[in-house]
Amino acid sequence: MKNIIFLAPPAAGKGTLSEMLVEKYGYAHISTGDLLRSEVALKTPIGLEAESLMKAGKYVPDELILKLISNRITNSDCQNGYILDGFPRTKVQALKYDELLKDLGKDLGVVIYIDIDKDMAVKRACSRITCPKCGKIYNKYSSEMKPKVEGVCDDCKEALTQRQDDNEETFIKRFDEYMQKTMPLYDYYKEKGVLKTIKAYESKFDTFKEAVKVIEE
Ligand code: AMP
Repeated sequence: MKNIIFLAPPAAGKGTLSEMLVEKYGYAHISTGDLLRSEVALKTPIGLEAESLMKAGKYVPDELILKLISNRITNSDCQNGYILDGFPRTKVQALKYDELLKDLGKDLGVVIYIDIDKDMAVKRACSRITCPKCGKIYNKYSSEMKPKVEGVCDDCKEALTQRQDDNEETFIKRFDEYMQKTMPLYDYYKEKGVLKTIKAYESKFDTFKEAVKVIEE
């Protein structure tokens, strides 16, 4: 299976699409945001360093992210393919990741860019709620993404919460940080010939269909 990198602004649907692809193909799902949020919850040294930056909508230092990634992709569950959701996010991370792959003798796979405009992303982020236990993503105002019982995870029955950085003010900072630091990776991967673009549709099933098409091409 080709490894996948999702290159997309926050709230483009990387997490939801990853869940669907994990179910269809059995990928390992690596979300640097989720890895960081668990470090924060456990109050580890990484978590303590990352917390205030995340709250401010800023990126966490590259070295710290690279440490998390190099530990994670060498786990046995990644041997048959993995999805990178939220990494690389800077040119330094992309270059270091290329070196890491070379050392490990692994292929980059495919980079999927999810195209979404800022207004739609803001709307999605502000109504997004997640399960603090399993990480499943819901949306209060979307008929297909609403939990069966309001405010409760369908699977683990935990009370759903809103991410601290999913308020409009912080979200706009995250979006702008993405445009400035991550968007240059679009050209980087385009030049390598590994970039595919899909559109973020209102319906996750339409976006999923496009993703499957580019993965199976
Ligand atoms: P996400 O869940 O992908 O939206 O990430 C949440 C936050 O975690 C981001 O706003 C950053 O503060 C931090 N973060 C996640 N991935 C990275 C990364 N690859 N590089 C730097 N910071 C990151």
